[in-house]
Amino acid sequence: MPQRSATSPQTLRARVNGAGPTGTLSALALADAGWQVELCDPLTAAALRERNRAYALTHSSQSLLQRLGLWDALLPALAPFRRLELCDRATHLQVPFTAADLPWLGGDQPVGWILQHQDLMGVLLGAVQHQTSIHSRLGLTPVPSPLGVDLVVAADGHRSLTRQAAGISQWALPYRQGCLTVQVRLRGSAPDQAWELFRPEGPFAVLPLGGDAFQLVWSAPLSRLRQLEQLDAVAFLDALSGALPEELQAEVLLDQPRAFPVALELAWPLARRGTVAIGEVAHRCHPVGGQGLNLCWRDVDQLHRLARRCATGRLRPSALPGAYGRSRVLDIALVLLATDALVRLFSNRFAPLLPVRRLALLALGRFGWMRQLSLRAMSEGPCRLWRT
Ligand SMILES: Cc1cc2nc3c(=O)[nH]c(=O)nc-3n(C[C@H](O)[C@H](O)[C@H](O)COP(=O)(O)OP(=O)(O)OC[C@H]3O[C@@H](n4cnc5c(N)ncnc54)[C@H](O)[C@@H]3O)c2cc1C
Repeated sequence: MPQRSATSPQTLRARVNGAGPTGTLSALALADAGWQVELCDPLTAAALRERNRAYALTHSSQSLLQRLGLWDALLPALAPFRRLELCDRATHLQVPFTAADLPWLGGDQPVGWILQHQDLMGVLLGAVQHQTSIHSRLGLTPVPSPLGVDLVVAADGHRSLTRQAAGISQWALPYRQGCLTVQVRLRGSAPDQAWELFRPEGPFAVLPLGGDAFQLVWSAPLSRLRQLEQLDAVAFLDALSGALPEELQAEVLLDQPRAFPVALELAWPLARRGTVAIGEVAHRCHPVGGQGLNLCWRDVDQLHRLARRCATGRLRPSALPGAYGRSRVLDIALVLLATDALVRLFSNRFAPLLPVRRLALLALGRFGWMRQLSLRAMSEGPCRLWRT
């Protein structure tokens, strides 16, 4: 267990294990709050940038990045989408979400943004280099957390050793569905439009990357995705045309399709022995609705608020982990439950469920307040529904 250092509140010290998107942003948030931070990852900075993936960012992520002064640096790399088309392929119903469904933001804000992993990590690791309160140990074998740190942040991904060392357990429910990501050139969609298609084999997201480039996140039984992964480009594009609606036509593959298993995972408790579990160490959910990274960053947001209170003497550092765990549990549980319910409700053609789906989508299409509520829960987190 980390010991409280006998130093003044101005020299609070943290060790962050893991420099993925969550760990790196946590280090920047702690430094912004006035802490001295050690950021550790066995991967080098170049390897940390390499992942070929695009994230859907929501308004909760925008607020945190703005507060940390990182948003403007990311702006040139962001592909905003102003329309999200929700299509249920079994009931043939379609519901559009637009800026008009975000009236509390003035009605002219994008529904969300797509950001490539390389661009994100380039900006975050660049900011780490310029932050004198962060000492980074990248590309080095992990070493145990030193005595005398006030906090250990476990951000070393879903197979976290830091979580294990702190005695935090993990509950996991693998999905039968996996997920395949690939970038393509696509005809038939506006460059600022995203799609969430509910297909009987699983949800399918089409996310704009700028121009006619799109990232596809295709959920289906993992065994089928492993077969798709092996196809040559022509056969893969052929299979893709069978999965996409007629108006969308994929023309060229821009990278290699990659399939991953997906699971519902929750660490419990979220903090123990001076260690907080954050990002994918704490939770994992199905990629439906692009909630994953945004939920991770709401952990960082709360860590930032609590770290600031410690730095100004309003919270004892030893009380931070408990306060973090109590304040994060509801948001995490609601997002895990909501994504799981969406997957179970829409990944089938089960006849008794079709009228329920039809009714839900007809109501969503007809009543603006329902679209606003669901978009607010998705973009700011479900706990914001009862906070003004
Ligand atoms: C196919 C797919 C598509 C996705 N699409 C989206 C999307 O559209 N939108 C979205 O928001 N999210 C999406 N996600 C989820 C998103 O990728 C994750 O939420 C995100 O990567 C989590 O970041 P993280 O920093 O918590 O963990 P990771 O990115 O896993 O980082 C963990 C880091 O810890 C390091 N590490 C490992 N062991 C140690 C150790 N012992 N000591 C120190 N460091 C260690 C690793 O090297 C790694 O750098 C998707 C996920 C998948 C699988």
